[in-house]
Amino acid sequence: MRTFRDIPIKQKLVIMNMAATTAALLLAGLGIVLTDSLLFRRYLQRDLSSLAKIIADNSTAALTFNDPRAAAETLGALRARTHVLSACIYRPNGSILARYAPRGSACPAVDRRDEIRFSREGVVVSQGILLTGQRVGTLMLFYDLGEIAERIKLYGSTVFGVLTASSLLALLLSSRLRTVIENPISQLVRASTLVSETGDYGTRAEKLSGDEMGVLVDRFNAMLAGIQSRDDDLKRERERFRFMAESMPQKIFTATPTGDVDYLNRQWVEFAGPGLERIEDWGWAQFVHPEDLEENLRLWRHSIETGEPFHFEHRFRRADGKYRWHLSRAHAMRDAGGKISMWIGSSTDIHEQKEKEEALRRANDDLQQFAYAASHDLQEPIRNVAVYSEIVSRRYHDLLDAEGQQFLGFLKEGGRRLATLVNDLLAYTRAGMAEIVEAPVDSSVVFEHTLASLAEAIRESQATVTCGPLPRVYVGEAHLQQVFQNLIGNALKYRNEKAPCIHVSAVGRGADWCFAVEDNGIGIDPKYKEKIFGVFKRLHHDRNYSGTGIGLAICQRVVERYGGRIWVESQPAKGSTFFFTVPRHAQPGDPAQVESSVG
Ligand code: ADP
Repeated sequence: MRTFRDIPIKQKLVIMNMAATTAALLLAGLGIVLTDSLLFRRYLQRDLSSLAKIIADNSTAALTFNDPRAAAETLGALRARTHVLSACIYRPNGSILARYAPRGSACPAVDRRDEIRFSREGVVVSQGILLTGQRVGTLMLFYDLGEIAERIKLYGSTVFGVLTASSLLALLLSSRLRTVIENPISQLVRASTLVSETGDYGTRAEKLSGDEMGVLVDRFNAMLAGIQSRDDDLKRERERFRFMAESMPQKIFTATPTGDVDYLNRQWVEFAGPGLERIEDWGWAQFVHPEDLEENLRLWRHSIETGEPFHFEHRFRRADGKYRWHLSRAHAMRDAGGKISMWIGSSTDIHEQKEKEEALRRANDDLQQFAYAASHDLQEPIRNVAVYSEIVSRRYHDLLDAEGQQFLGFLKEGGRRLATLVNDLLAYTRAGMAEIVEAPVDSSVVFEHTLASLAEAIRESQATVTCGPLPRVYVGEAHLQQVFQNLIGNALKYRNEKAPCIHVSAVGRGADWCFAVEDNGIGIDPKYKEKIFGVFKRLHHDRNYSGTGIGLAICQRVVERYGGRIWVESQPAKGSTFFFTVPRHAQPGDPAQVESSVG
């Protein structure tokens, strides 16, 4: 059922007008009728009181002489008042002297209170008849209410007539006037319907009045103009984006917040074939290499859930069925409220680069295997040189002259140096190999292990080695120990006359942990701060600082394997601080998580 709220405004206006007019007129009519009947009652009271007094005064003689005829004549004067039902003159003893009852109505019972009483049947008047102040009888008058009823009828019909006429007039006027209000509203409704149906924000509502409706129409039009200009901007931006996306060499896509790809540029379609144009939802997944698919979907879902950027290397199937490596990235675009409104992404063909890297990696692996095998195999003969030169030195010491003994000394020293060198080379090749890291490694534990293995050197140099709070990191334990061992070992070795004071610390810096190993040793000339990380690069060749020049190269190799970097800040004689970074979180495809054998 339609309620008042749902009917059209024009009907509402008419109903409201009519209701207001009728209510006002009814109230006014009711007021008039009520006031009149009240006033008329008072008038009737006064009128009947004076009529009764006149009759009573004229009846004094008839009562005195007990003359019923004279009394009846006096009462006969009431004939002119058609609403008198009956009138009686009572003697003092209560008997009736004369009666007047034109319609046979009974006389009201005698009542000596001299009053006017209104009842449902009519008005009863009692009036004492006095002679020189003495009561000689009573006049009782019974008057009907017909006069009041007639007046009410008359006023009622007048009010009804006025009401009908004015309602008709109000109806006529309001139907004329309603157009003044209704037309501007209809204009607004028409314009807004047109906008919502056609999406044409160029539509405007016509302003028909200068009142609030006119203001509303102005505001509505201004709002439409604002939306139109924003819509135009949006269209221009969309065009610009499409133009850019179509002219870029990369493959571009956009996706809904839930990850459904809703736009692919020409490069995509050219690459994957027209079948791609028709894909819906996550159908693009069928073009991903089966081996990359699971990880690809996992990462994409993760990005959709968290809003984090998507970054993945995967193979995509070309129209000819061959797969090519792509680097895909996608970023979430957010609206003013921070909610993701769309994803925009690109895929770059990195197939050639990937193949080159793979070839290089294979060559590197071969070289590494060779270096590893060579240094491993060299250990045995070198150990023999050391052992047998020692045996010769012990057994044939007396047979050798001073020169022979000096040569033997050179042989022993050379063997020892060769053994260290081969050991370091072995460590260097190990640094390039991956290590399995199943859980993050507590670097403070690795630090303690390092101290234990350097205990002899620390004791001998009377060094103090301390550390701050150290984090858990995604670096292989053996690799991290190699770095600590070389850096702390160097800090112990390259000391001056003061006892070494070494401090290891770490701070979070962006996505990395930055470690620092600080010493109070001899320091390094800044011009060599790059060079010292090269293999066999040494700044000190005197006997006090023995070494092979491989330690820092090992550190650099390890750190770079994990995507970090290593550098030094130092001044001669002012100590050195070696810094290195490692990522805070496990990286996808992290070398530390790839299984490989070490040693
Ligand atoms: P090695 O210590 O075997 O010579 P490294 O690769 O460890 O080789 O170091 C390379 C060179 O860097 C060293 O020869 C030394 O001159 C310099 N160096 C390394 N660490 C320090 C340090 N803490 N203080 C001063 N010089 C250093």
